[in-house]
Amino acid sequence: MKNYDVAVVGAGPVGSTFARIMAEKGFEVAILEKKKEIGVPLQCAGLVGKRIKEVNVLPNEFIINPVHGGFLHSPQDTVLSVSKGKPEAYVLDRVKYDQFLAHLAEDSGAEILLNHGVEKIDSVNGVINLKNKEKTKISAGVVVGADGHSSIVSSTFNPLAESFQAAQYLIDVGEKRFQTNFVHLYVDSRVSPGFLWVIPLSESTARVGLFADANYQQLTIILNELLNKRSELRGATILKKYYGVIPRHDPHKQLVKDRVILLGDAASQVKPTTGGGLIMGFTSAEIASRAVSKALEVDNVEILTDYNKQYQERFKKELKVQLMVHKIFKSLNDDNLEYMFQKLKQEGAEDIISHYGDIDTQSTLVKEMFKRGIIFSILPKMLSWRISSLWK
Ligand SMILES: Cc1cc2nc3c(=O)[nH]c(=O)nc-3n(C[C@H](O)[C@H](O)[C@H](O)COP(=O)(O)OP(=O)(O)OC[C@H]3O[C@@H](n4cnc5c(N)ncnc54)[C@H](O)[C@@H]3O)c2cc1C
Repeated sequence: MKNYDVAVVGAGPVGSTFARIMAEKGFEVAILEKKKEIGVPLQCAGLVGKRIKEVNVLPNEFIINPVHGGFLHSPQDTVLSVSKGKPEAYVLDRVKYDQFLAHLAEDSGAEILLNHGVEKIDSVNGVINLKNKEKTKISAGVVVGADGHSSIVSSTFNPLAESFQAAQYLIDVGEKRFQTNFVHLYVDSRVSPGFLWVIPLSESTARVGLFADANYQQLTIILNELLNKRSELRGATILKKYYGVIPRHDPHKQLVKDRVILLGDAASQVKPTTGGGLIMGFTSAEIASRAVSKALEVDNVEILTDYNKQYQERFKKELKVQLMVHKIFKSLNDDNLEYMFQKLKQEGAEDIISHYGDIDTQSTLVKEMFKRGIIFSILPKMLSWRISSLWK
């Protein structure tokens, strides 16, 4: 049985990033990936905050467009326009970026084993059973479950993860209709706390999608409605259809057990408000790498629990605010959403969102809205009190 210091299950962006960091530190690392090609099919809108450049390598060739701002649409199309006049986010070529991150890991010394689906793990001994005829086994000092939303690794010590469904089309409208530096987001109580998006790739092509607590048939109906309703999307040719799963953030998920840790979607490290997982996953990979290196160096897997502690310190407060925002959106009907948008517009919230808004951290914006009394004017009293208690 081949033995490694670290075996990472899943060559997604987070698994590859973690593997690269550990290989750079000199550990013997294997990545076990069930697919024969990394990064396909695309299951991402590819919109990521500018902070990605602080938490991972991102060469410009994988950036399709910088994003300066967005238009937020209410159910009756009250529009809040927010912009900072400079890049706040990027639209990525996710397929090529995932492949690049895997190559970086390989260049740093990690061994990538494609067609290596993992069937079962023994968390105490770090033994991994592969899903092949030979029933091959691999062992490792630390096993990392970075195997996405339906993680086999997580399921050995966590209940089945809950998730949202997502659908996305790549469309071509045949003429120049889009501003490439601006995205459009649409709220609709049928999909809340999810939302719909239009992310231009060029002046005539875009990713149009949504995520919600609904089945794929319902998602498709709502997505098609958007295509028919919006004049800028009308007559679009659908070039590709993608479906995917976004895990619900679970604050109670166990991230460490014996010799095993979880990372990325497998650890439900996604922002509750947007479902975005790249920045949280990359940040967590760095946090985890410190605990895993130390545990391997002194041969004591109990140190792995440091990962959970440091992860909680880094994200707990922000996630609490986002989970609250998420809950509130879920409870609002279309009339409430409409009222909220109109009030926000009247109260001059576009400037505040433009100034304090951040695709990755919403707590600063929510806090500012409190300070200015805006939250009290847009939400029923009980809800406002619940949110304000977060800062007490
Ligand atoms: C429609 C959609 C839109 C999204 N848009 C955005 C966005 O705009 N911005 C953003 O930040 N995030 C977005 N996300 C979320 C983002 O894609 C994920 O958070 C991210 O891919 C998580 O990376 P990961 O490496 O943890 O997992 P994954 O990317 O899911 O990779 C897991 C890997 O593990 C492999 N694997 C699974 N099971 C096994 C097994 N048993 N054995 C071996 N290998 C296995 C899989 O084949 C896969 O390669 C979106 C998600 C969806 C579905």
